[in-house]
Amino acid sequence: MNVIEEAHQRLKELAGNLWWTWHEEVATLFCALAGEERFAACGRKPLRLLAELPPSALTAALASPEFRQQLEDVYQRFAAQRDQSRTIAREEGGIGPTTPVAYCCMEYALDDSLPIYSGGLGVLAGDHLKSASDLGLPLVGVGLLYHKGYFVQRIDRQGCQGEIYPTLNLNLAPLTRLPGMTVRITLPGSGLTILAAVWKVSVGGVELYLLDPDLEGNPPRLRRLCDRLYGGDRRTRLLQEVLLGMGGVSLLEDHLSLRPSVWHLNEGHSAFLLLERLQRAIRRGLTLSEAKTEVLSTSVFTTHTPIAAGNETFVLTLLRHYFKGMATELGLDWEAFADLGRDPSGSPNEFSMTVLALHLCRASNGVSRLHGKVARTMWQGVYGVEDPELVPIGHITNGVHVPTWLGDDFKGLLRNRLGLSLEQGAEAEPTTWNKAGNLEASTLWNTHLAQKQRLFELLGELQDQGALVPGNDKATATTVRERLDPTALTLGFARRFATYKRHCLLLLDRKRLRKLLCNPNRKVVLLFAGKAHPADEGGKAVLQQLLTVAREKEFLGRILFLQNYDMAIAKILIGGVDVWVNTPIRPLEASGTSGMKAACNAVPNLSVLDGWWDEAYANGLGWGFSNEGTKEGKRLDRLDNATLFGLLEQQILPAFFERDRDGLPMAWIELMRRNLAELPPRFSTSRMVAEYRDLLYRPCPTAPHYVPPTKGRRRGTRLSPARG
Ligand SMILES: *Cc1c(COP(=O)(O)O)cnc(C)c1O
Repeated sequence: MNVIEEAHQRLKELAGNLWWTWHEEVATLFCALAGEERFAACGRKPLRLLAELPPSALTAALASPEFRQQLEDVYQRFAAQRDQSRTIAREEGGIGPTTPVAYCCMEYALDDSLPIYSGGLGVLAGDHLKSASDLGLPLVGVGLLYHKGYFVQRIDRQGCQGEIYPTLNLNLAPLTRLPGMTVRITLPGSGLTILAAVWKVSVGGVELYLLDPDLEGNPPRLRRLCDRLYGGDRRTRLLQEVLLGMGGVSLLEDHLSLRPSVWHLNEGHSAFLLLERLQRAIRRGLTLSEAKTEVLSTSVFTTHTPIAAGNETFVLTLLRHYFKGMATELGLDWEAFADLGRDPSGSPNEFSMTVLALHLCRASNGVSRLHGKVARTMWQGVYGVEDPELVPIGHITNGVHVPTWLGDDFKGLLRNRLGLSLEQGAEAEPTTWNKAGNLEASTLWNTHLAQKQRLFELLGELQDQGALVPGNDKATATTVRERLDPTALTLGFARRFATYKRHCLLLLDRKRLRKLLCNPNRKVVLLFAGKAHPADEGGKAVLQQLLTVAREKEFLGRILFLQNYDMAIAKILIGGVDVWVNTPIRPLEASGTSGMKAACNAVPNLSVLDGWWDEAYANGLGWGFSNEGTKEGKRLDRLDNATLFGLLEQQILPAFFERDRDGLPMAWIELMRRNLAELPPRFSTSRMVAEYRDLLYRPCPTAPHYVPPTKGRRRGTRLSPARG
């Protein structure tokens, strides 16, 4: 290979590895290759640029020694980080390149060019992989390839959500098919065989493998099994999870010759892998009890929600059709098999994937301190104990991948002024962030205004595309445009439409809302975004209710909805608003991560004390409230609504609109400083993945942050998470 060919090869490799999503030097390189304008026309996606660039332009760039030098510099940094986890020596009996952590999840959000995610769970999984790469942790991801993803959201004139399912163009998506590899899953006695092709997604030094049943050898119905994420009937979901769990084991062990030292079930969807592993151990000659010990000692489980619908169950009659033969092979009669997934406090006719995982994993955890406690109560029946504190479920609080979610302007500022490093997980180190306390007020404020400006540009772009609601017809569009004002106090609220999240809480008291939003001297704007699951009528009704209010004349341009919430919108929206709002019914929000993204961008949170905010909130960081003791329902909503308005009227608006001689809101800037100084390192995935590594992946006998109570020591049994 000559130098030009080698350079071309390296360029393709950089474009194909999602490392670029958190290393802007790759974007700079591709701008140098084709020019800013052409790169922007390709949506700033390197793979698309390479596909669309005229060969002559490519040849010219590669012929330039300066360009090749720039490429070489970026490539060397990339290769060094990519190879970190591949070259580390394997610890005795522990994690290493051929004995990695196997991380299994139903969805991954890595970039909007690979739309195989629906929301928070996927974002967390994607961020987990990126931080594992940063930390050089040998880890492989396992997931499914959904050809039509979750869905693209379109709002009609009545405010109803429509769903569109475009097919992913595999040639432009950041994945490659492993040639000739076919995974075969058979459920003995059921007549079911699923074949799956394998795709590889490279995320820095971490590989994510996606199983794809769209193969000629499968009957048509199975070929379409993974068209949609979280779509289809119960049978479809069951078979998807069979493919994910059982196919995942076969893929790693039979085809990639890996011997994972730990299997991490990120949510219960992949729990069938535990059964597949039991079956394999028995085929090797182990007794059921020995097999259980083996599987148990090498599996860990994270539960993600206290919402019943989020904890997968299958009716036993459906499960029996597929798993009867496996039960026999395990030496279990059907009732004993069913007991592996029966929740003693639930329906005896249902098989719970969460219960299966709790039974067969060495350690289990919730995703915030509060959620750990809620999960212990929720799953008490599985352990048959009187005291929920005896339930061995601990917690590891979620985080976000800071290099991904930190906006460009703040990233530049913190790098230049504080010397912040975002390499190798250094963002979990608190000392650099602590220095944010010394940043001068005007610099901080102007950085925020730059990101806010970008958000308002996005609103304009969305309006041009007809993707801002309301604003589709001409008259409305004009009013909205006139009212769009970046000096307004801008409140953001974006998340999946689920009734417990109460998107419409602030809209309950119309009179107070009018006073808040229609004051020409103190302008306030509410920005909303989020998708409702296609089958969630309750969530869709809330969305429609919100849009009805947004269309009222007096609220035009003051309540806006950004269509089709995804990672790209999230980054600009969360990094550009003045306040990030969250109003779940406590304690139903297990963690929540968008508020952490806000904090990384110095945006204070206004939130019910639930999930992560329950442990992050302190005076001076933002606003927290809860009307504990009131049962959920209209009365709680009214109380919470009044509390919200009280905080807005008495604290938030005064702090935001009070300016000094230079026009700076000094009290507000102090809030921003404290957010930056204290929260990002604590709520980063590099802190989180390091905790998973140290407390769960490296052999450890108990759940994280959980100390079994001893006699006379019933309280304070949970340790608080390590800081930084
Ligand atoms: C961060 C994120 C979420 C999760 O937000 P929560 O606050 O946990 O509900 C969902 N969707 C997208 C696109 C995100 O970026």
